Formats: sequence, structure tokens, C-alpha cells
Amino acid sequence: MAKYKRILLKLSGESLMGDQQFGIDFKMLKHYALQVQQLVEKNIEVAIVIGGGNIFRGMQAEKSGMDRVQGDYMGMLATVMNGMALQSALEGIGVFTRLVTAIEMQAIAEPYIRRKAIRHLEKGRVVIFSGGTGSPYFTTDSTAALRANEIDADVILKGTRVDGIYTADPEKDSTATKFDKLSFAKVISLGLSVMDMTAFTLCQENNLPIIVFDINDTQNLMRIIEGEQVGTLVEG
Ligand code: UDP
Repeated sequence: MAKYKRILLKLSGESLMGDQQFGIDFKMLKHYALQVQQLVEKNIEVAIVIGGGNIFRGMQAEKSGMDRVQGDYMGMLATVMNGMALQSALEGIGVFTRLVTAIEMQAIAEPYIRRKAIRHLEKGRVVIFSGGTGSPYFTTDSTAALRANEIDADVILKGTRVDGIYTADPEKDSTATKFDKLSFAKVISLGLSVMDMTAFTLCQENNLPIIVFDINDTQNLMRIIEGEQVGTLVEG
């Protein structure tokens, strides 16, 4: 029996880069697509929110003198490109998908309509949410929190390079230890960063669990679905 029936997987733009400094590594796309396929074969409903940081970030553009809002829209467009690439990878291995965007672009993606997105999930199609929230000043983590609540997902699975939440950054501090489970309040009191605050509080207020896990381990998604303790669970 699966522990979670409907999941929202958050993939950052950077997770598509692989070893590259920029852009999309097609090996990484295939790697994610194969993992998602395994879930679909087990009748898990999968929604994905894709980031855009591998191509463009509004905040960085602002530092170079660009108007923030303009930069944010460019960042949102970057997520659509990533979404298209991910859709291609999934369809290439026979997984049915729908690419949805918060900014209307009818030639390439469906506009976001909540009921329609839910219907796709019920029919076993993987729904890729692109275009972020459609509004500047937000992030794709906030998009993940928002859409997960809207579609009534059981959990947000935040795939990262590290295998959970640590007392300190394990890539910089060798004494850092990992948490298996944390409450929302504890994350705040310890000053840990799981997602940006807007995203995090949206999950907290609606009691939507978040699991931070290592996406590079190909077994992890399936283990999580089967209820194994993987990564760090934030809930309650
Ligand atoms: N963005 C935005 N509104 C949103 C989502 C994203 O303005 O609702 C912009 C923002 O400039 C952000 C960029 O799109 O820097 C890429 O998204 P994000 O940084 O969240 O991508 P990730 O870090 O997940 O790759």
C-alpha cells in the first residue's frame, strides 16, 4: 500500500544542470523521468513544479541593474522551457503528461485551471506546473506550496542534492547532523532553511507535510511512497 496517493514533486532548475554550470543536462532529465515513470506505474498521481534557476533568476538580474519585475517574468519563462524539456523526456519513455503554465502560452502549454489539473491527475497524467505562480516576487518553492494545497496533494517532495535537513550545511560543516523529522515550529526556532518563508508558512498554515530528500538516489522516491523513512519529514 502506498503511503501517499497524490504527490507534488518540486524540482529546482539547478537539479536539471547535472555537472554543467548552466542549462539542461539531458541525462538528468532522463534520470528524473524514469523515477517518475515508476511512480505512475504504481498508480501514484504525480504533479511536478519545475524551477528556472538553471537559466534565469530575477533577483540576480536585479543586481546587474535590471528591473526586478522584468527579470522575474524572464525567470518564469525559464521554467516553461524546463517544463517543456521535462515533458519531452517523460513522453519519450511513454508517460502521459500535461504541461500547464500560469502565464498563458496556448501554443505550447495549457493555461492553469485547477479543476482541469486535478482531472489530469485522476486520469494518471503527470501534470507539470510551469510559469511559477504567474506573479513576480515569488519563487517556484512558493508555487509548489500553493499548487500542492490547491490540488490537495498529500505531501510536497523537495528533491535536493543533500539527503535531508541538517543542523548546518553538510557541504561546509562536517559536524552537521541530519534530522529525520521536524515540526514546522522547530524549523523556524532553529532558523533552518527548508524553503523560502512564503512557501514554508503556506505549508505550515495548511499542515501540508514536506519531505526534503536526495533526488540523485534513484530508489528514494519509491521508498518514500512506500512509507520508508527517507530524508527529513517536516510536519505538525
Ligand atoms: N519566479 C517568479 N514568480 C514565481 C516563480 C518564479 O517571479 O512565482 C521567477 C524568479 O525570478 C525566480 C525564477 O523565476 O528567480 C526562477 O525560479 P526559482 O528561482 O524558484 O527556480 P529554482 O530555484 O527552483 O530553480
